[in-house]
Order: sequence, then C-alpha cells, then structure tokens
Amino acid sequence: MVQRRVQFALKVDVDTYRGMREGLPCLLEMFRARRIRATIFVSMGPDHSGRAIRRLVTKPGFLKKMLRTKAVSLYGPRTILYGTLLPGPKIAAGNAELFRTIEAEGHEAGVHGWDHVRWQDGVPRFDEPTIAKELARAFDVFETITGHPPRATAAPGWIANERSLAVQDQLGLLYCSDVRGDHPFLPRAGDRVFRTPQIPTVLPTLDEMIGVMDENGINASLVEDARRRAALRPDAPIVHTVHTEVEGLSRASLFSDLLDRLLAEGAIFVRLDEAASRFPVAGASGGNGRRAAIPLSVCEVREGTLPGRSGTLAVQFAASR
Ligand SMILES: [Zn+2]
Repeated sequence: MVQRRVQFALKVDVDTYRGMREGLPCLLEMFRARRIRATIFVSMGPDHSGRAIRRLVTKPGFLKKMLRTKAVSLYGPRTILYGTLLPGPKIAAGNAELFRTIEAEGHEAGVHGWDHVRWQDGVPRFDEPTIAKELARAFDVFETITGHPPRATAAPGWIANERSLAVQDQLGLLYCSDVRGDHPFLPRAGDRVFRTPQIPTVLPTLDEMIGVMDENGINASLVEDARRRAALRPDAPIVHTVHTEVEGLSRASLFSDLLDRLLAEGAIFVRLDEAASRFPVAGASGGNGRRAAIPLSVCEVREGTLPGRSGTLAVQFAASR
C-alpha cells in the first residue's frame, strides 16, 4: 500500500482581542520552532465576545455548550465581558505591529469578518449591501495595516449563505474558507453557482471534540482522521481550524503535541493559498502551478449541524442532480 503524506493545512482563527494579543504570539512561536507555515484569519474590528452572552437567554443550546465545553476556561473570563460590561477593543488595528509579523514570518493573513459576533448573529438575515459593508470595513483595516488587499476570507462561525457568497464573489478573492466539508469546491447556493472556490474546514475543532470525548484521545483521533482522509483524497488539503484563545493559550500543550504527532507522521504543512494556487484557472487546461491541478466540482452550500457544536453552520453537500 502506498503511504500518502498528509497535506495538512492549519487555519488559525483569531476571534478575540486576547486571542490576538496573547494566543497568536504563542502559536507563532510554536510554528517558528517547527518551521510550520499556517493561514491566519483575523476578525478585523472590535471584540464583542460578551454580546454572545445574549444567546444565553435566546438560545438554550448555547448554555449547554458553554457548560459542556468549559467556555470560560477556554476563552478566559475577561473576553466574555467585551462588548457588554467592557468596551470592545480593536483586534487588528489595536495590534498592527503584531499583525504584520504574520506575513513577515511566512504565514498567510486573511479576513475573519469585521465583528465576529455581529456576523454570526446578523448574516442569516443581513441583505447583500449590509454584508458588503461589514467586509469593506474589514478590508480597509487589512489594507491599511499590510499595504495590500486581502486575498481570502473565512466566515466567522462558518455562517455563510447565498448573499455572503455573492458579496465575496465580487471581491476578486483567490478563495474563501466559509464552510465545513470534505474537499475544495465551487459553491452553489440558491440557484447561483459562484466562481470563488471554497476550501472547507475538514476536521472537527477542539472545542467540538472536548464536548464529546476524553481530551487524552483527541490528538490520536485527529491524526487518524487526517490519515484516513488523505488516503481517500490525496489532493485535498486536510484543513484543521484552531483558535488562538484555545490552541494558543488554554490548550497550548495539547496542540503542540498534535503538531509533533503530525510531523512524526511526515505530514506536510501547506497554507490555504498554496492549495488554492493549484486550482484550475478558468479557461486554462493544466492549472497554474507546477504541480497537478486540484479539480473543483460544484457542491451545494447548505445549513447543517455538526456533533459537538450548537446551532447551524454552512456545510458542503454533493451537488444535487
Ligand atoms: Zn471565528
């Protein structure tokens, strides 16, 4: 049997001010020590995490999740007050120098919305101009800090729909990473097929797994899952989403153990833009890179649910005939 090397893509989401300021430097250090490059998506605006507390009253599932996943121990007590009892500090603009080290150290930087909580709560009902305004604010700050426009976005909370995909389709992006699924694809939602490829998050996140299994078994399960998927689809990157507040802080040692296990497996760490550079270019036959192109099929994006996560999120489905 041919042993395939796992192409592992780390998608780091920075959702909070503390995650940016304290968690990101820890992750950058872990990556530096192991010569790993990652893709880092940052919520560009204010940290309004505390407003998620409102869901305690409106969504019973959130309380269950808070208790099951030990949200306070994962995210810290101060963070859950931002935007309610404390003002929401600016995640990217308040840390511009640190933001620039993402690219300076060889990682890819992208946009994880403007206001994480507002996106998660609002996008299901926002019209296209409202969604466009959210992204425009984020893009302005990104460009001011880095000197170039973003080339990719990742939807906060994997909340995406026909309208957010339509807005993003006008932004000239290399790809988006808005959904949970299996392999890169061109999204269809409603009656529209969009041209911006989606690179889905493939593996379950740590906070989902902590809710349903013993922490000691998590890394072995993730490595096994990655190995199995790589054998089935050797071209598709195994995208794993991590959070700076969790893998960079409260569960840093668990995460560094995962990285070491993957390196011992011979996994190759790829950035999402590197994976996207192998997608076929419209009108060309052989792709645009040295390596074989990753073919993109059209798949549906629909609302779905996942084990260990409350509420719905955007999920990749095989296209209906
Ligand atoms: Zn996020």
